[in-house]
Order: sequence, then structure tokens, then C-alpha cells
Amino acid sequence: MDMNRVLAEVADEVAGHIGEGRVANYIPALASVDPRQFGIAVALPDGTSYGVGDWLTPFSMQSISKLFTLSLALASDNSVWSRVGREPSGSAFNSLVQLEYENGLPRNPFINAGALVVTDHLAGHVGDAADAVLQFLRTESGNAVIEFDQAVVESEASHSQRNLALAHFLASYGNLHGDPHNIVDQYIRHCAIAISCRDLALAGLFLACHGALRDGSQGPSARQTKRINAVMLTCGTYDAAGEFAYRVGLPGKSGVGGGILAICPGRCSIAVWGPGLDERGNSVAGVAALDAFTTKTGWSVF
Ligand code: GLU
Repeated sequence: MDMNRVLAEVADEVAGHIGEGRVANYIPALASVDPRQFGIAVALPDGTSYGVGDWLTPFSMQSISKLFTLSLALASDNSVWSRVGREPSGSAFNSLVQLEYENGLPRNPFINAGALVVTDHLAGHVGDAADAVLQFLRTESGNAVIEFDQAVVESEASHSQRNLALAHFLASYGNLHGDPHNIVDQYIRHCAIAISCRDLALAGLFLACHGALRDGSQGPSARQTKRINAVMLTCGTYDAAGEFAYRVGLPGKSGVGGGILAICPGRCSIAVWGPGLDERGNSVAGVAALDAFTTKTGWSVF
């Protein structure tokens, strides 16, 4: 397959969608991002990467970082599953309501409550979960200059009342062990990592390779990797996982920065970025590009 040609065709097909949607504005630093940007990158199991458009421009990974905290937590042990479920939530990613009904056990690791628990769990193993994610991304992408975006950190930190509320609420159920302020701080920092499509596709490649890392060592086991991909498919794209599976046919994790990481097991990882979001919070151009990619290549899990 001529991947450069496929990606050029995908970019042509989505050109009309670039700039559509609304950039996230509840984190002020994200509101100033130019919506007329678009990039897509594909990484293959041999470590090669291909891309078009703004595929080398760093963007705020936001919720996509939750995939990496989960993978790192599972690489240590499976016990995080006693603290978080794996069912779609059917409610907003930052909702408090469901957490009370379900006695402090978040529905899945990708809603904010679940991600806070996973960050707390990982922090119990490694000290600072955000530093661990940053180090992992640098190692797996081969790019040692990936960094936290301090403007986004500060912006989100000054608007973090709801995440602090979730953390305190979790603590009241005994499902957050660290100091809520410290865990929210680590969570905000891993969400605020700036990464390009190229580096994200390379960093996520282990999910397409049964957990094998860049240096040949094992991250999460093959069985855990299968399960991470399954949870991505059912819970990774906010309250639109059904629509995403219908259109794209791959496990994917999106973030309010407009990025999406999608995995085609055994074949490739794909990172797309377009800051304009649909009403569910997924990148309009990004979903359209993944739809076009799997239609052209036939590379879907279905
Ligand atoms: N840091 C963001 C928040 O907690 C993540 C949002 C997202 O990408 O879903 O609101």
C-alpha cells in the first residue's frame, strides 16, 4: 500500500471539513487555537511513520493522555480494575451525578472520574503520573523534547473546580488515596502535554503491536492490550462511541484538543488532529479523516 498516496487522498477528502466545529473553550488556553489546522500520521509496526498536513505541529493531547496512564497502570498490575469499571457511561465526561449513584466507582477509565482514579493508582506506583506519561511518550516516539504546555497547565488549573470536586468526591468513597489537589495537578499536567500527530502515532504503536514497545520489551501484556483497545472502542470517544465505531470501525481515544488516536491491531496506529469539535467533543475533521482512511484501506476491526 502506498501510504503517502492514501494520506494525500484522505486529506483531499476532508479538506471541506477543516475549520468546521468549535474549539473547546472551557479551558481558556484552548480557545485561542486556530481551528483551520489539520494533520494525520500513520505509524507502522516496523517503526516507520507517514503524515500529511500539520502532522508535525504539537497540540494539546488532553484526554488522549488517559490512554497512557491506563496503559502504564496496567503494565504494573491489573488491580486498577478493582477501582474503575469498563462500561460506557452514557453521561458527560465530567459528570458528578453517576458517581454518587454508583458509590464512587467510576464507569470507565476515560471519563474524568475514572481518569483521576487511574492517575492516583499510577502515582501510587511511580510517584508522579504526569512525569511517567511524559517519559513514556518521549521514549516511544523517539522525540526527547515533548513537553508540558505550561500555558495550558495554568489555564486548566485556574478552572479546575469540577475536577477537584470529582477528586474530593472519590476520596470521600475511599477511591482516591493521594491528596486530591496533588492528583488533580498530575492529571492536569498529563492532559496538557503538547504532542504532534507523528509522535502520538509512534507512542501509541504498542497498542497495535500486542503491547510490544519500541525497544522490543513488553509494556502491557498482549491480553491487557486487547482489553485496553476494547475499552477504547466502547468508551474512548465520549458519548459517541457507537457513532465512532459505526463510521470508523477502530478503537479510538479523542481529546478536547481535537486529537484522536486510533488503533488498527496488527497493522498501524493513526493520529489525527483538527481543533474544531462536534457537539459530542470529537474532532469533526479527525473523525471524517479516520472514516475515509478505513474506507480506503479496508483496515478496520470489522
Ligand atoms: N483536561 C480536560 C478536563 O479534565 C480533559 C478533557 C478531555 O479532553 O476530555 O476537562
